Amino acid sequence: MVRDSRIALSFVFGLVGGLLILTVIFLYLPFASYPGYGYYGPFSYGAFGILLGIASGAFVIVGATMSFVRPADAVTWGIVTVLFGALSLFGLGGFGIGMALSVTGGALAIVAGASGPSPGHGPQRACTSCGMLIAPEFAHCPYCGHAMTPLPR
Ligand SMILES: [Zn+2]
Repeated sequence: MVRDSRIALSFVFGLVGGLLILTVIFLYLPFASYPGYGYYGPFSYGAFGILLGIASGAFVIVGATMSFVRPADAVTWGIVTVLFGALSLFGLGGFGIGMALSVTGGALAIVAGASGPSPGHGPQRACTSCGMLIAPEFAHCPYCGHAMTPLPR
């Protein structure tokens, strides 16, 4: 499978962002009905915010995973990741960090999916060992060090 290094980065960002969103939700869930915080405590949007936060965390992870597994649909899943990353704002957004990571990861997937890999988009080839796209003049893969076979002339 041919993979773009930006897709891999976007996957990491989305995965960490989504997990962070979910972690913050579940950390604060016991406080949701804590009297000192009011009924929904730190969730300023109440039950709606809690549900939306859990849903957005889950969809961010799904979006990031899908754009990694299916790079051909990276744009679609990148949009899903950005959208739900932004929606996580209503469910604390992983203290803003999870939200920022998700939106960045989704944007990376969109950029990577929209710009390549496609034939006629500069001479690139995939490493036969790790699948990363590299410039054809490299004798060794910069990602895994795999020795590349010389191009036929
Ligand atoms: Zn490699």
